[in-house]
Amino acid sequence: MYRRVVATPAAVKEYVNLFVNRLAYTIQSMRPHPQSGRHYYYRPKERGSGAPLHLTEKTVADHLEGKMTIGLYAINPSNQRSKWVAIDADYKNAMEDLVKLQYYLTRDHVESALEMSKRGGHLWIFLAGALLASKCRIYINDLARKLAVPVKASGLAEGIEVFPKHDAIASGAFGNAIRGPLGVHRGAKRRFWFYGADYTLEAQMQFLKGLRKVQEEELDGFIAQTDLLTKVEKARHQAKPIREQGTGRGRTGFRILDHVGMTRMVGKNHIARCPSCAQAGHDHSGDNLAILVADPRFYLCWAGCSKEMIRAAVGHPIPVRQTA
Ligand SMILES: [Zn+2]
Repeated sequence: MYRRVVATPAAVKEYVNLFVNRLAYTIQSMRPHPQSGRHYYYRPKERGSGAPLHLTEKTVADHLEGKMTIGLYAINPSNQRSKWVAIDADYKNAMEDLVKLQYYLTRDHVESALEMSKRGGHLWIFLAGALLASKCRIYINDLARKLAVPVKASGLAEGIEVFPKHDAIASGAFGNAIRGPLGVHRGAKRRFWFYGADYTLEAQMQFLKGLRKVQEEELDGFIAQTDLLTKVEKARHQAKPIREQGTGRGRTGFRILDHVGMTRMVGKNHIARCPSCAQAGHDHSGDNLAILVADPRFYLCWAGCSKEMIRAAVGHPIPVRQTA
């Protein structure tokens, strides 16, 4: 059914180093659910006492040898950090999107490993030490947004799922687990390997071990830009609303959303091409203008166009205040 693998103690140790960030884990059911036919994951408990089981080297070896299949949690709640980021994609053009992400990651000198899955694949990035889940998520979500790769968390039915799936979790919480690589998928009844190395455990571990790991300072650099945007958004949110003139009772004032064409939602903002940038032949990626979803009277151009410039560009200049 699948190739026999012997997990040496060295391979198990390396696997733990790369993938295990906490000792809680899940097990994929050996039997399909009678109704859905799916092999669900559950958290294993000790027989009798019902105490949660902790991951051991023996369990990891059994996983690698195909005797059982484990799921691994991304975040350790003691420090809200993760050792890895896994991008799960299982829709029609999933592999295309993963390869696109992989290519653009290399532009930041971030190496990644692409693993096949039942329907699509998982792209793994390894981190030096363990890095804050929230920072990892900002980086990957922002990259996906720039590449127009759909993200499931943003409300789309299909899209990538980024593990860690949370910025932080409570001390007794687990977050979401993902199938531990190199094990046997019970539903597919086969082992999925990483591209880029021979299909033996030794070669695969060697390959994974050789991937450069993302350093904390690097990650900080990647997200500095995004971080700045968040601060601007907060400042805007706290600012007092600007009353557009001529918006008396029963009249509708100027609405930026009527003038920007197609928008997409990213976090708390609608994102669109900035009209003022567009007039100057800029913002071809169509993402300079952020409009606060909660209150579309607040908008700003990341490239620095003023409200006056934007209003002028859409043919609705801000009326000069009558002081007399
Ligand atoms: Zn602009």
